[in-house]
Amino acid sequence: MSNELNILPELIFEISKEGKVGYSFRDIDISDDLIAIDKSKLREDIKDFPELSEVDVVRHYTNVSKLNHSVDSGFYPLGSCTMKYNPKINEKIASLKGLNTHPYSPTDCVQGNLEIIKELEKWLVNITGMHGFTLVPAAGAHGEFAGMMVIRKYLESKGDARKIVLIPDSAHGTNPASAHFAGYDIKEIPSNEDGVLDAKTVKEYLNEDVAALMMTNPNTLGIFEKNIMEIADLLHENGSLLYMDGANMNAFMGIVKPGDIGADVIHLNLHKTFSTPHGGGGPGSGPIGVTKELVQFLPVPLIIEGKDGYSVNYFNDAGIGRIKNFYGNFLVIVKALAYLMALGKENVSKVAEDAVLNANYIREKLKDVLDLPFKSKTLHEVIFSDKDLPVTTLDIAKRLLDYGIHPFTIYFPLIVHGAMMIEPTETESKETIDAFIDVMKKILDEAKKDPEYLKGAPYNTPVRRLDEVLAARKPVLKWINEENEG
Ligand SMILES: *Cc1c(COP(=O)(O)O)cnc(C)c1O
Repeated sequence: MSNELNILPELIFEISKEGKVGYSFRDIDISDDLIAIDKSKLREDIKDFPELSEVDVVRHYTNVSKLNHSVDSGFYPLGSCTMKYNPKINEKIASLKGLNTHPYSPTDCVQGNLEIIKELEKWLVNITGMHGFTLVPAAGAHGEFAGMMVIRKYLESKGDARKIVLIPDSAHGTNPASAHFAGYDIKEIPSNEDGVLDAKTVKEYLNEDVAALMMTNPNTLGIFEKNIMEIADLLHENGSLLYMDGANMNAFMGIVKPGDIGADVIHLNLHKTFSTPHGGGGPGSGPIGVTKELVQFLPVPLIIEGKDGYSVNYFNDAGIGRIKNFYGNFLVIVKALAYLMALGKENVSKVAEDAVLNANYIREKLKDVLDLPFKSKTLHEVIFSDKDLPVTTLDIAKRLLDYGIHPFTIYFPLIVHGAMMIEPTETESKETIDAFIDVMKKILDEAKKDPEYLKGAPYNTPVRRLDEVLAARKPVLKWINEENEG
């Protein structure tokens, strides 16, 4: 790739030329007085509105669309985010006409849709060993919030107004935020030198004010919280509950059921583990599963399977109420079910096995050139640090862009200095992963020979290294006509 490559397409305003049009309307042969529009309200001209031909517009937007990196265009090993490939069959199924119904349709007319919701609930119950599910939450964080509210409602129903939620120091930032939103005070617990929680440490933090522990398993270091059963017992003896953040279920679905190892509430991310697109590609979904004792507190609507078909219950005094309009992001649910059905029950565990294999392959191939801050076995992702390197994690991430690879997650989890969190997922081939490993080695070589060069990366991207704080705080989102502004 040439460093001088200019791949920023021309701005649509700048290629504008007076008189160009991208439409052709017939002259109307209706007399003016038949047109019920007050002509004085019509705008003759829109100042600075670009004038372009159809081909200009098509090329402009096609070029702009190619500036984005996506799972469809290249490797995307963003740790913790599970950027697995989104199979096209999901989209095909979700675009079936019959599924696109109005949410106010009478339940008699949407029995098939309700069956789809119920069917996915059943799959998730089977995979997690939880008793019941709601598919309403629109994201992982939304599921966490709903789950914490369920815990609160359950404890309050027993007259137990506990105030504290324990969260390990390796947790995803959404965990403390969600618990806080649900009205709890947060207490952080340290992980041990192996990167996991000790039962002994948890015990020290337990008292009658502790409502729950939020544990991510495998945790954000990619390490299995092997003391989970002992910790769950301690919590339950203390009258507290175990919330399991299941965003990383890709690592052991089909192999371990959270419901069997003590989880009371768990959320899943359909847009991670179950192959539906993330944010930019559409809305997300963060279903929660709960134990038998907690089912009655789930948010409405509840889809009820009866003798005469499915019905929808919007009223449940015991529960936490409404957390979103309608049934959740229905077409995301459709895509996740399409994925599972295409995969087949027998292959669910294969996903996890391959995800773990791919991550450990990268770990083996790079462990001699990068520092491994935790030596414990890791599952679906691997975390290196920038210890002893002549450049920083940020420099490496920026240089990866020059090679057409989306960087891994950087500087998270916070307990690792200069963290590089790599999650290849199971959908990548050995060839792709080998190419990534080669690029990483090449970059580390470059770093040794000329660290200053890396600090200037990226060189081939439409925009160079940005002031990220400024870009986030004061984004420029629209074209500004500098000539007129002046
Ligand atoms: C992604 C993630 C979340 C939050 O999920 P969103 O859908 O982004 O809200 C929570 N916990 C962990 C461990 C995650 O990886």
